[in-house]
Amino acid sequence: MTIGVLAVQGDVREHLRTLARLGVKGRPVRRPDHLAGLDGIILPGGESTAMWRLMTATGLADAVRRAILAGLPAFGTCAGMILLARQITNWPETFLGVLDVAVERNATGRQVDSFEALVTANGLGELPAVFIRAPAVREIGPGVRALGRLGDEPVLVKQGPLLAASFHPELTGDTRVHELFIQMCRKGEPWQHA
Ligand code: GLN
Repeated sequence: MTIGVLAVQGDVREHLRTLARLGVKGRPVRRPDHLAGLDGIILPGGESTAMWRLMTATGLADAVRRAILAGLPAFGTCAGMILLARQITNWPETFLGVLDVAVERNATGRQVDSFEALVTANGLGELPAVFIRAPAVREIGPGVRALGRLGDEPVLVKQGPLLAASFHPELTGDTRVHELFIQMCRKGEPWQHA
């Protein structure tokens, strides 16, 4: 199994390190041809607008969208969740627009307002979660499940082969969310029904 990590900006190394710890081959994705043969792709945390600018310039934006629409499992963390979202309530553009959620960018305010919390997630137990200028999920479509919440707010969501967290599982050393994604990437996984 090979899982790609979008490698134009953001915490790429942290995701690659987590995959390595779990014995899964990771591949930095910088160009469209790096998508060939992947079993899944991770969109890291960072700055969604910067990532999108670079993805558009390299042709990755279209290539990644096409691959996801063709069924490639994708996991977005923080900025990666914003890239996946169908709508960004406080930004004029939409990026990949493949995950049926509306998010508000920078809902936790400035960098100094970043915080850690325990998130209760279905089937995974309590997860330590780091929020850094995190998006807030304001709406979820009927095909989206909130797997984890902080208070009332969904912070870990799944829609078929798409998984997104508004926090950074790649920064805590807790590998359970990555393990869930790896499971979703296994061939023949009936994610359509999950
Ligand atoms: N605020 C960033 C954005 O809008 C996301 C922050 C993060 O990934 N830690 O892209």
